[in-house]
Amino acid sequence: MVAPPRRAVAILGSTGSIGTQALDVIERHPERFRVVALAAGRRASVLAEQARRFRPALVSCADESDAARLRTELAETQVVPGAAGLVAVAVESGADVVLAATDGAVAFEAIFAAVEHGLTVAIANKEVIVAAGELLFAEARKSGASILPVDSEHSALFQCLQGERRDRIAMLVLTASGGPFWELSEHEMHRARLADALRHPTWNMGTKNTVDSATMMNKGLEVIEASRFFGVPADRIEVLIHRTSVGHGFAIFSDGSIKGQFSLPDMRGPIGYALAYPDRLVEPRQLDPLMALGGRVGEDVTALRFERPDRRRFPCLQLAYDALSAGGTAPASLSAANEVAVRAFADGRIAFGEIAEVVKAALAAAAPRALSLEGVREADAQGRVLAQRAIAETKSSTGVV
Ligand code: MG
Repeated sequence: MVAPPRRAVAILGSTGSIGTQALDVIERHPERFRVVALAAGRRASVLAEQARRFRPALVSCADESDAARLRTELAETQVVPGAAGLVAVAVESGADVVLAATDGAVAFEAIFAAVEHGLTVAIANKEVIVAAGELLFAEARKSGASILPVDSEHSALFQCLQGERRDRIAMLVLTASGGPFWELSEHEMHRARLADALRHPTWNMGTKNTVDSATMMNKGLEVIEASRFFGVPADRIEVLIHRTSVGHGFAIFSDGSIKGQFSLPDMRGPIGYALAYPDRLVEPRQLDPLMALGGRVGEDVTALRFERPDRRRFPCLQLAYDALSAGGTAPASLSAANEVAVRAFADGRIAFGEIAEVVKAALAAAAPRALSLEGVREADAQGRVLAQRAIAETKSSTGVV
């Protein structure tokens, strides 16, 4: 058997949750991967430690002052700060695969550059697919770039759709854990605090993702993401609550057959699949089928339970469907307004229940822009301004609670 060639990997967002887990995967498979470039934001000391471990030729961080320090610490590594550094990591590092593991809009330009260069781009940066997915996939068709999903649900669907015709998809189903507030009453949920949200049942992720999981905006953004990835409209994408997060996604086909993907919740699975695609990595396996499906030691039965979410209780999920149906730059406005609302909640300026109200108000006031990169940027900026305005008018910030 011929060994697969070692892939050169560049990571945008190497110090975040996905970035560090990707480095775990790479460290476990040195025969398969090498790190050629890393980009981080403000966690420069973590970046320095990663650079000493993986010896990339190029690193990038947000600030010039951090960059100066990194240059003296890492004598053999080129250090390019800021937006230019992100682009350099993406397209000037000689990477075969660029893993986009950044949050928000910071790496949009670098991700587009990687796609324009025809590279393989593994995307965990949800916002870029949500806001500019149509543009990104159009560019990939021109350049020949492959865009691979890293999000667990989209990785699941991508795996289910291998070898299948897209016009034979009847429905795609994304599973959702329901988040930390699933058991709460509507009233309790309205007043829930950040500390409560950070106690997420199964996945370990950043603050933004955790709050998005609690509002189910995360799942809403994933519905939009799935529509962009697989070319399926809003009315053929469903969400089912599945608290144990063992089944990640299902495709229902034209003949009624269903394919699903199951694995214990561990992001290193989908990350490894994207990095090694179309191959699979060889990992220590769980050979007890019940345990592999989330069963407990010594028990001879396990159950997989799915339930329909109530979109009234989770208005953010409905808002995402609305934005997807509206199309154009509405998803960009939605994502930007949500970022601002989540920040306001995390800072204690608005109540949990007001996140959806802020996003809804911003979405209603947003004027559609042309579907171009420029239009997406304008919609993003406008969404932020409209969200700030809506926050100033909430009961919490006006003291009328
Ligand atoms: Mg997900």
